[in-house]
Amino acid sequence: MKKTNLKKTIMGVDIGGTKIACALVSGGRLATPVFTIQTPRGEKILNVAEKFYEKVAKKYLISGIGISTAGMVSDEGRIVGSTGNIPGWQGTKVKEILQKKYKLPVVVENDANAAAYAEYQIGSARGANPLLMITLGTGIGGGVVVNGKLVRGAHFAGGEIGHIKLSYTKQRLCTCGRYDCLEAYASGNGLYALIKHYFPDKYKKITTKDLFKLAKSKNKNNIFAVRVVEDWHFYIAEGICNLFQVFDPEKIILSGGLSEQVDLKYLKKQTAQLVLPALKKSVYIEKSVLGNNAGLLGAALLAGQSL
Ligand SMILES: [Zn+2]
Repeated sequence: MKKTNLKKTIMGVDIGGTKIACALVSGGRLATPVFTIQTPRGEKILNVAEKFYEKVAKKYLISGIGISTAGMVSDEGRIVGSTGNIPGWQGTKVKEILQKKYKLPVVVENDANAAAYAEYQIGSARGANPLLMITLGTGIGGGVVVNGKLVRGAHFAGGEIGHIKLSYTKQRLCTCGRYDCLEAYASGNGLYALIKHYFPDKYKKITTKDLFKLAKSKNKNNIFAVRVVEDWHFYIAEGICNLFQVFDPEKIILSGGLSEQVDLKYLKKQTAQLVLPALKKSVYIEKSVLGNNAGLLGAALLAGQSL
């Protein structure tokens, strides 16, 4: 069979706590449909990538592999931390294993970092310097791109913005074991804590989707739902304000499932009230246009650059 020789066709793989997504990427665009499967445990994750590789390698010439994964990733492409939601994944030498097997350049990057890089290259904030991306989901992640390069940090924890402190009152326990991180307030879990606070009798029956619907309705309970939504926006704005003072970002991009519920106009207004007066007019916040494929595309773009 004649193979399609797309210039720099890269296999992109996004490994999340619940699912794995694979696709071929060429020139920053998907060259095949995205194949998704439930995440297995530990190194079996790599079997999923291998199966996809074997399938597409019959038709395409693949010149590199880009892996976007939950958890912290070392410079050697090893999973070094924060993978509680993928049992057995920590410690896996992803880059070494795949490079040996396929004799191809392999790049392994934290998923939020990879997504931030995709936003910088092909997304809502092309060329922004610095670019700050915040992922709002069950947890909170993020990525920072300065002068076109990801801020990975000295200990691979650069961009782990979910764990900046929002308070010192020890009110909310965070998934990291400490108190009062941004994630404990503004993630899906934080939102749930707010619902519990304002609806102490009914919170078990209210999903986040119900809550946002209720906040927009004329139902007599909606005053409490509106307060939840306002408080939630306030926490995100506080987090952005802290990060603003560190990075002074040209553009801020919101991604992740919960970002769909953000009222951008309201969030910008709140954030502008919190930052230094001289920065009030410099708050630029937009939502991601790449959605769920950002990590996969970003990892493929990074791998493409290493060729
Ligand atoms: Zn934390």
